[in-house]
Amino acid sequence: MQNPFLTPTVLIPWSRLTSDRVLEAVQEGVRLGEKALAEIAALPPAARGVESVLMAFERATEPLDFAWNLINHLDGVDNSPALRDAIREALPLVSGFYARVRLDARLWEALRWVAESPEGQALTGVRRRFMDETLADFRESGADLPDEGKRRLEALEGELASITQTFSENVLDAMNQVELLIDDPARLDGLPESARAAALALARAKGLGTPTLPVWRFTLHMPSYLPVMKFSADEPLRRTLWEAMGAVGGVAPHDNTPLIGQILRLRHEKATLLGAAHFPDHILNRRMARRGEVALGFVNRLHERVKGAFVADVAELAAFKAELLNQPGVALQPWDVTYYSERLRQARYELDEEALRPYFPLDGVLNGLFALVERLFGLTVTPRETCCPRAGGPQVLGAIETWHPEVRYFELHDQRGRLLGAFYTDWHPRESKQGGAWMASLYTAEATSPGQRGPHVGLIAGNLTAPTDGGPALLTHREVETVAHELGHLLHHLTSDVEVRSFSGANVAWDFVELPSQIMENWCWQRASLDLIARHHETGEPLPQPLFDRLVAAHNFQAGINFMAQLAHGKLDLELHLGGRDWSPEELDLRLRELLDGWRVPTQTDAGFIVRRFTHLFAHPTGYASAYYSYKWAEVLDADAFTRFRDEGVLSPVVGREYLERVLSRGNSAPPEQLFRDFMGRDPDPDALLRRCGLSV
Ligand SMILES: [Zn+2]
Repeated sequence: MQNPFLTPTVLIPWSRLTSDRVLEAVQEGVRLGEKALAEIAALPPAARGVESVLMAFERATEPLDFAWNLINHLDGVDNSPALRDAIREALPLVSGFYARVRLDARLWEALRWVAESPEGQALTGVRRRFMDETLADFRESGADLPDEGKRRLEALEGELASITQTFSENVLDAMNQVELLIDDPARLDGLPESARAAALALARAKGLGTPTLPVWRFTLHMPSYLPVMKFSADEPLRRTLWEAMGAVGGVAPHDNTPLIGQILRLRHEKATLLGAAHFPDHILNRRMARRGEVALGFVNRLHERVKGAFVADVAELAAFKAELLNQPGVALQPWDVTYYSERLRQARYELDEEALRPYFPLDGVLNGLFALVERLFGLTVTPRETCCPRAGGPQVLGAIETWHPEVRYFELHDQRGRLLGAFYTDWHPRESKQGGAWMASLYTAEATSPGQRGPHVGLIAGNLTAPTDGGPALLTHREVETVAHELGHLLHHLTSDVEVRSFSGANVAWDFVELPSQIMENWCWQRASLDLIARHHETGEPLPQPLFDRLVAAHNFQAGINFMAQLAHGKLDLELHLGGRDWSPEELDLRLRELLDGWRVPTQTDAGFIVRRFTHLFAHPTGYASAYYSYKWAEVLDADAFTRFRDEGVLSPVVGREYLERVLSRGNSAPPEQLFRDFMGRDPDPDALLRRCGLSV
């Protein structure tokens, strides 16, 4: 029987996707890919054309792409030791295969031949874009380099992979070494019940404490660390954990300081070998920012605009601490900032996030968001019956198979009744599931002609508050935003009408991909749309106006400090990758202090820098390196694009349809700046974000 991982299909047979078929699927997928690519490379010039070379190249790796995607999906939602072993065994085959493709000289020669042929030169639209981008991909991977250059590039990649892996392990090991044990309940003052229970569970998992003599254990992992920084009234407790965090990556045997310079120099050499002036230019060449200086200019300009509000926020926070402690002139400490921010927020807005939960039962939130999607885009969402033989349940005729009994399945139709796609939802934590929230595509249909295609398939998943005691899952407002965010990514995938499969949906430039997701969060803050989403789970009442007012008022609380924290990360990233390779390990902090003067909350004890544990930048050969600014960049786009809804109607179907046609359904078929202009009629306005955050003067 055909390996079930290898057959791209809409109705995925989850019960047959077992760990023992993984390695075989990957081996066969690699074999099929190699065979297809070899056939393209072997074509005589007379047989070379757009279909036989370019589009055949697009399809060559389809079975492997599909299988590997499914395998990684299962790793995220139904992890097991057997699956992990299978993946570990298959991984080198897959990465080796994909790395070889772009260094295949004969394939490269065939692609260039077609690009230069009259047929290639006559291409327009998405196929033209696909051809140009494919050539650029090959060039950026070193296809044009002489043999000596290719060898050097390969060596650089190898070194980068190994040093960034060490950086990542150092951070992980250093963090895992830290634990703080508390046996005096008085020291838990201020911590919410959920954080106490988690600390108790962390201790029990280590065999510490008894029901009569409990022990609370805290670590540097975010779910443990953040509540302490935010809520703990015990200053020494906050300080101890903060100092432990500050030491991560900076102390032998896990010292990352020398690795930073090495990574920066390797990246610079790689960029210059491939013809760029420096690493940011190499990375951003095909993103919206295009060049490192543009990204840095973006960050610097926002800093100028925000610094006034930032200074005012800091002064307010310091004054609040002094007043609360009755110590005039007392300075802020780095372990104070999050804590006093939260205290000030509570004092000012009396916003109890727990009081909002009854208005956000998960099913009600989903139905509300689906109603919103129908109003705006004319798309209807219909649930289908599911079954889960994978977990031992019966196969039900006509029901859709899922990977877990909690998973649900929906179909998405447009106004004409065309089935655009289908999706799974998987919302609550379990041990076999990774953390966070995400959207993934499982299947992308190929368009046979414009507007003619089968359904795409995707999923949205998260780790939201679980139902308790037979009641519904009641979400926080932040969790509602998360659901809306992932739904935005999902719509990007499912509504995509792009002729080239790999240019479909969310396969767009990194600094553009969060526009369709982040824009959806805006509807969680508008009365008209929130009334669709928020209904009391027992009474069906909408959110009371005073509660809504406090929610909105608290939204931009200390926006200056929060905005600046993200900008400072973006600035640090770009400055390091532009000039940091020449700094000695000894001068690293000194240089950063100079560059980030005016970007950090002034504190009595110097707050230090995240750089030695900044895994976004240094835990992968590329990762977010030179791209941390993208978070703010995409926020500018979504804040600006949403102004059309704000001004022309929050629930306007006219604007909704335009957004669907001009941005959402077009994937990567045109440059992102063009999609934006097609919808807005102009280039992005950076002030839109400042206005939304209440920071524009
Ligand atoms: Zn996202």
